[in-house]
Amino acid sequence: MQFMEDVDSRLLDAFAPIAADLKSAGLKAKLRMESRVKMAIAWTAVLYVDGKRLGSVLVNPESPKENQVEWLAEQIQDYVLEFVWRGPEAVVWPRCRSGHNHPMALEHSADYPPRWPCWRCPFDRNVEIPIGELHHRNQGP
Ligand SMILES: [Zn+2]
Repeated sequence: MQFMEDVDSRLLDAFAPIAADLKSAGLKAKLRMESRVKMAIAWTAVLYVDGKRLGSVLVNPESPKENQVEWLAEQIQDYVLEFVWRGPEAVVWPRCRSGHNHPMALEHSADYPPRWPCWRCPFDRNVEIPIGELHHRNQGP
């Protein structure tokens, strides 16, 4: 049996709102430590979605939490859009409002102190959802 460290709790803390947004899309996400993933200057772990190993993610421990969440969300969105499929269809995550078939985009904010990161429609800036709040969205037709 191989010794395995736990995922850093501060990394899990930044991951929680993103995991919530994956969950509201019916995707089950998890971070795991693997022996060849080493903690160095970053917090790192391996992302699994629906049991599939997608790859490692990392977060800068020195950043404010808002920036950690934003950076982590970007890495995770890239993995999901590229590697998560439902049958023959690539998953669109997070899906934009009804009638929009594209994923929402991460808004990069240069504000300091940083504001909480949002998903935003790439075409309509008024459509925005804070990361972690997708389940509050009205999922009407
Ligand atoms: Zn849209």
